[in-house]
Amino acid sequence: MATHKLLLLAGDGIGPEIMAEMKRVLAWMEKAGVASFAIEEDLVGGSAYDAHGVAITDAAMDRAKAADAVFLAAVGGPKWAAVPYEVRPEAGLLRLRKDLGLFANLRPAICYPALADASSLKRDVVEGLDILIVRELTGGVYFGEPKTITDLGNGQKRAIDTQLYETYEIDRIARVAFELARTRRNLVTSSEKHNVMRSGVLWKEVVTQVHDADYADVKLEHNLADSLAMQLVRWPKQFDVIVTDNLFGDILSDIAAMLTGSLGMLPSASLGEADANGKRSAMYEPVHGSAPDIAGKGIANPIAMIGSLAMAMRYSFNQGDVADRIEKAISGVLDAGKRTADIKTEGCDVISTKAMGDALIAQLEAQG
Ligand code: NAD
Repeated sequence: MATHKLLLLAGDGIGPEIMAEMKRVLAWMEKAGVASFAIEEDLVGGSAYDAHGVAITDAAMDRAKAADAVFLAAVGGPKWAAVPYEVRPEAGLLRLRKDLGLFANLRPAICYPALADASSLKRDVVEGLDILIVRELTGGVYFGEPKTITDLGNGQKRAIDTQLYETYEIDRIARVAFELARTRRNLVTSSEKHNVMRSGVLWKEVVTQVHDADYADVKLEHNLADSLAMQLVRWPKQFDVIVTDNLFGDILSDIAAMLTGSLGMLPSASLGEADANGKRSAMYEPVHGSAPDIAGKGIANPIAMIGSLAMAMRYSFNQGDVADRIEKAISGVLDAGKRTADIKTEGCDVISTKAMGDALIAQLEAQG
């Protein structure tokens, strides 16, 4: 059995608490003989700043580059609100994304039937929802130059951000989306604003070219980003894989997240370019932040973190069967009425972070 090399970055706030539960699942997987891991750990975010004066050290970056997969729990918190901008906790996250070339951000929005009532939408709209948003993560308006604020000298200022995409950036993210759709329900919805933005015109053109040349077996639809936002809250189950740029992806994936009810449930993956052996650099992390309001209380939900491990088994290690087992354990725990406080519903058993880890491992064991 191949040994997977992992770097664990627990970070700040509830990060160490939820990472501890993921580590217990890793240990269970080794014991059960389903996977083998070589695990390293390091600091990121505020905890790295406290120890080293930076949000991530060069040594930790080297370890991240050498790993088959990086797991990051969460960074940030009020303690570091006043640290210099270049070394703020989020700078560690951004450096990881940039230096590992993580251009494809995958955010599944899955609504477990047991949690359908936690959504602000009606049960029949969200129950059984399973969509995947593929967001371009390293280009677009967040990075395009010029990016300036100029004082015009007449009491006015001018701010400029530049939305900028080149063909190769759209081509490679489109390929990720089409490949993923082939493993799911074979539908890709591409989203931009070609009616008002030149970058949208190019986006639509390149996605269509990639589709026609190499993925004609996958159904492709185009949907303007504003219309897609409406459709996501009207009838989200019509979608399978949604591919979009950095800005629209940021917004649309947060809408999709809320359909499912709780931040504590949502994992994500960020992938880089495939090398000659098909291996991609990869980072897996919950969508939520460091939740300083509940840090240290032992009540954080570890499911998004453990769901991120399931994504790694599927997308980095080609062990979709193990990913399925982890996800089945998650729905088993929810069906049994066990909930952390963030997802509690009437009549459920409210349990701690550690008890949720216990319950998940018990479910995995019960699967045999
Ligand atoms: P947050 O996601 O940390 O918390 C929002 C709310 O959701 C809080 O009430 C929190 O208690 C709850 N919550 C989040 N995750 C939970 C979990 N696993 N279990 C139970 N409840 C959970 O967002 P925020 O409060 O806006 O930000 C807090 C800090 O996290 C800030 O410093 C922010 O910059 C940082 N942040 C980091 C990341 C990241 O590391 N990727 C992402 C977002 C925010």
